[in-house]
Amino acid sequence: MPGHPLFPHRRIFAPGPTPVPEAVRARLAEEPLHHRTREFGAILGRVTEGLRTLFQTAQRPYVLASSGTGAMETTVVNLFRPGEEVLVVEAGKFGERWGAMAERFGLTVHRLRLPWGHSVTPEAVREALKKHRKIAGVLFQACETSTGALHPTEAIARVVRSESEALVVVDAITALGVLDVPMDRWDLDVVVSGSQKALMLPPGLAFLALSPRAQARRKRAGAPRFYFDLNEEDSAALTGETAWTPAVGLIQGLDTVLERFRAVGLEAVFRHHERLAEATRQGVRALGLELFAKDAPAPGLTAVKVPPGVDGKKLVALLRDRFAMTVAGGQDACAGKIFRIAHLGYFDELDMISVLSATQMVLSALGYRCPPGAAVAAAEEVFLASMR
Ligand SMILES: *Cc1c(COP(=O)(O)O)cnc(C)c1O
Repeated sequence: MPGHPLFPHRRIFAPGPTPVPEAVRARLAEEPLHHRTREFGAILGRVTEGLRTLFQTAQRPYVLASSGTGAMETTVVNLFRPGEEVLVVEAGKFGERWGAMAERFGLTVHRLRLPWGHSVTPEAVREALKKHRKIAGVLFQACETSTGALHPTEAIARVVRSESEALVVVDAITALGVLDVPMDRWDLDVVVSGSQKALMLPPGLAFLALSPRAQARRKRAGAPRFYFDLNEEDSAALTGETAWTPAVGLIQGLDTVLERFRAVGLEAVFRHHERLAEATRQGVRALGLELFAKDAPAPGLTAVKVPPGVDGKKLVALLRDRFAMTVAGGQDACAGKIFRIAHLGYFDELDMISVLSATQMVLSALGYRCPPGAAVAAAEEVFLASMR
């Protein structure tokens, strides 16, 4: 076991799975209920209401037993037809996943490719839609977790609406419960999320909500599917159930999470994430490091460029071996070049102080020169401003 030789204390700062609060872990330890019971039905009903609030929609979100990718696949196989054209914003690993998945199900994929770290502009989306007049859906990430960049969801939705009949499909897995993504107000057609990021649960639940426009589209769409067939879910929902055995334990845990969200209010949740993000950005900048996100760094995680002369893989490995601390490295072309610090879900100010301090120590140990305590001091300034 890496970390402290006597009392290793694991600290996870990867953008999923994120830490799980004690109250939620206690709930997860309860006996799982049988899913066709009134008792569980009441929980599922409550959870559905809580998700409505979280998605900021009047529609009924679906709860699936899968990781987040399952909700992405559910979207592709229920809302589009093989042969249909979609536009995919591809500026990182998860954008690539939309494209690869749509292609696998026989859709014709037009890719709006950007260098990793960049955010797409609404103008670029407009141009692509003018060039391809038969686009049935525009698929993108609210936050591209592989690069820490936000895409301008609201502006994209507006452009899509003015230029086409296409569905606005948003992977909000590291955005929902982090920043304001009001589904109905922004007129989004599909919003997808999962349990192991901002929702502070282990992996295993995926969520999606559909606008009335998306529901109507389902009637003339669909690829071969079984487990992820929303018709099955709709039939089951008539009696307040799910089509297959739901992940009962995780749904019980989700009940506790959403209760907490309700008590605190979404506004406070968004402000909290913004503050942690700001402190993290100021902290790494104080070390002379640069953010990887060019245009719009996300509030859920901070991607940082590894400085010249430092081996990024060693940085991640040393955090793990010396402090039992998990930060995420870069993926694919970014491997060894960036590292990513998560601050979505169950994190507080002192968590961010600890990861900034450890990062500074590890960088120093690897020969990078920076004034001791600089990152922590910069983060403290941000936190202090909210205490005065
Ligand atoms: C985590 C994540 C996913 C889902 O990945 P799973 O491993 O299937 O849960 C999808 N999109 C984004 C942007 C993510 O951050």
